[in-house]
Amino acid sequence: MTEAAARSGSRTVRRILGEHSLRATPGRMRILEQLRVAPHPLSAAELRARIGGVRPDLATVYRTLDRFVAVGIARTVFVDPVVRRFEIAGDHHHHLTCTACRRITPLPVCAIERMEEIARTEHGFEVDDHVLELFGTCQECRTTRR
Ligand SMILES: [Zn+2]
Ligand SMILES: [Zn+2]
Repeated sequence: MTEAAARSGSRTVRRILGEHSLRATPGRMRILEQLRVAPHPLSAAELRARIGGVRPDLATVYRTLDRFVAVGIARTVFVDPVVRRFEIAGDHHHHLTCTACRRITPLPVCAIERMEEIARTEHGFEVDDHVLELFGTCQECRTTRR
């Protein structure tokens, strides 16, 4: 990352924290920086491992992520029943989780609108949110298995 990119990244992180009325502490900034650039949802331990230099302890990372979820900066992703994973709250999307190699790929497509429409028209139910994760075998694992 260039110095200019790092500077503008840290400005963005400060702005996001400010918009959610959170003080821009160094720990929060570094955790949010990693969350923003993560290519897929991360557990607290995975996120911590991506922080360079002196890392905040795992309890702090957990506490910070919980805070981010509470204020709407981050969201919990339910791709794993054992490990909680987090990602930046933003564009609505789903995930493909490979059950062989555990790789998680964002899927920027949602086909739930039809169900939400039926919920509204036939059940008078207004849907606020939904959770949908897809599990299976990724292309790489499918080729190596043959
Ligand atoms: Zn795989
Ligand atoms: Zn959806």
